[in-house]
Amino acid sequence: MIIVMQVGATQAQIDTVAEAIREMGHEPLVMPGQDRWAIGVPAQLDSGQRSALEGVVSRLEGVSQITETSRPYKLASVEYHREPTVVEVKGVSIGPGGFVVMGGPCSVESYEQYRASADIVKKAGAKVLRGGAFKPRTSPYSFQGLQIEGLKIIKQVGDETGLVTISEVMSADMVGAVSEHVDVLQIGARSMQNFPLLVEAGRSKKPVFLKRGPSATIDEFLLAAEYVLNEGNTQVMLCERGILPHDRQYTRNTLDLAAVPVLTTYTHLPVIVDPSHGTGVAKFVPPMAKAALVAGAHGVMVEMHPNPKAALSDGSQALNADEFVNLMGELRGLAGYLGVTI
Ligand code: PEP
Ligand code: MN
Repeated sequence: MIIVMQVGATQAQIDTVAEAIREMGHEPLVMPGQDRWAIGVPAQLDSGQRSALEGVVSRLEGVSQITETSRPYKLASVEYHREPTVVEVKGVSIGPGGFVVMGGPCSVESYEQYRASADIVKKAGAKVLRGGAFKPRTSPYSFQGLQIEGLKIIKQVGDETGLVTISEVMSADMVGAVSEHVDVLQIGARSMQNFPLLVEAGRSKKPVFLKRGPSATIDEFLLAAEYVLNEGNTQVMLCERGILPHDRQYTRNTLDLAAVPVLTTYTHLPVIVDPSHGTGVAKFVPPMAKAALVAGAHGVMVEMHPNPKAALSDGSQALNADEFVNLMGELRGLAGYLGVTI
């Protein structure tokens, strides 16, 4: 429920409405606006609670209108948060007006491999360095990542290069350890509905990069983001990384680019596209990265490896250094045309 205040409603009137909501056992969310303020009640109300609250609030001074939100997610919605969210991390702003490129290998394999990747990413002008230390692999026999050793490498290379680092955290009990070593917590597609992990990431004060589950609807995706927001962590980014494909013969997943304008319409959170997992094929990555920029995404996450053939995971979708540099150049040209800063 959202209570829209009259234009010129006083602070005292706003406070009275918020207090009335609190007295009825709900937490109000006061939302300043340019001409009028609104007060949201994010809780899911049953019909009795809704009419009781409406009965009380509608009588209060300064109230203009009481509306119902049509969407199951609240804190993630533009109705509850009218200004776009810009995630700020180590001097890098992620959100409207900008396009951030996150590059790096699928997995951190060694200091040398990761440092070489970082140098390529940095030289190409990208701001964020990706790389998994904990890898969610379909098979237990595949490389599982360097784990704690990988985290230490990420920390060292992040400190040495000044790049913003992002890496996946797979379980709630590892949020603390990963937070100590990386700048942004990635929650992988397979973990999108790991609710204890979402809650713990929400309690951390780190920006969270949430990937869409392979079979998740938009509502499920945004309700997962809602878990993080609900813990008071407002620094959340959404990542479209492809959904289950109809035809796996040519691409690993189906990159749902239509999700970009949908998400930027219904939420205030930055939207990033991952064309690497979205297609699974290196040569399809650049066209889809460019398409993401044109579709209105606020950035891309692209896998890049100094020597893709030797990669311990996802080599077939990794760009090499030259391909990464070329893509950056093409994105820069497009961004200039669109009036977006890279
Ligand atoms: C990754 O980014 O390397 C990864 C495992 O991604 P996803 O969770 O989208 O599969
Ligand atoms: Mn990968």
